[in-house]
Amino acid sequence: MVGHSKEFVKALADHDLTAVRRVPKSDLHNHFVLGGSRDYIFQQTGIKMPLLDKTLHSIHDMHKWREEHIALGRFDSIELRKVLIEAAFYQAKQDGVTLLEIGEDVWANGKFYGGDVSLLVETFYEARDKIAPSIELRLQIGLSRHCPVGALEGWLEPFWGRQEFYSIDLSGDELAQPIENFVSIYRKAKSYGLKLKAHIGEWGTADDVVRAVELLELDEVQHGIAAAGSRAAMDFLVENRLRLNICPTSNVKVGRVHSLENHPVKVLFRHGVDVTINSDDVLVFDSDVSKEYLRLYRHGVLTAEELDAIRLNGLGLA
Ligand SMILES: [Zn+2]
Repeated sequence: MVGHSKEFVKALADHDLTAVRRVPKSDLHNHFVLGGSRDYIFQQTGIKMPLLDKTLHSIHDMHKWREEHIALGRFDSIELRKVLIEAAFYQAKQDGVTLLEIGEDVWANGKFYGGDVSLLVETFYEARDKIAPSIELRLQIGLSRHCPVGALEGWLEPFWGRQEFYSIDLSGDELAQPIENFVSIYRKAKSYGLKLKAHIGEWGTADDVVRAVELLELDEVQHGIAAAGSRAAMDFLVENRLRLNICPTSNVKVGRVHSLENHPVKVLFRHGVDVTINSDDVLVFDSDVSKEYLRLYRHGVLTAEELDAIRLNGLGLA
């Protein structure tokens, strides 16, 4: 069966994680440096990544924990960067992800690839072909919200017009600088045909989501869960066919959502908003996509059939 719906619904009803993993899924919100497999990283480097064993209270807490325990500074070479990319494909393969949207932050092009975008692109495709050749890769250009816009514009220069990239995404601290600062970058990205995404409404408000969508002309919002607090914002998202790429466990572990039972994905989905379920940072949140679906089912957030509709939507099969 093309969509595997029967298999997926049964896997959830049976609480069978292995069977959930066998069903095709998308992961459209995945920061690959933190999205890899612990086992793969350990096999390749001997480095053990600990699990987060507490709930954090802010994105700053998360960054602090990450600095202390994941310490990405240890992976500061092209060889180790490749291990992280391969680990992300390994993880996705184990998870049954068949469509994966990941990419580098623009600053990393100079640091790891000598400023050569072709090498950057090749590195991702080589890792994909080596580890998980059947995964469809959507390559993304990443921007960090704390970086000065002038610096981002400089780093972006060699990326413009490269047909290998599917999307552009702004991530990091939502409160670092006003969204208006990014308008000119997003206009240019639109002119090159990139899908426009940004992390909004994780910590910000429903109004922030609407404003960012209008100003940057976004196609998709990473998180965007604050919109659930406003009927007007949800109506706006439905009318404008905006997609929210949601990461439930991440929201709970950073202390943004009090409990999974009350996760806003329920309100958003049942209001008709286009949502997908994703991992965010597997290494921090223990949040692969299969676990996310099963956790939402177990906590009674959505029915198996609703979760299947979300899964098919992510794969473009809805
Ligand atoms: Zn994210």
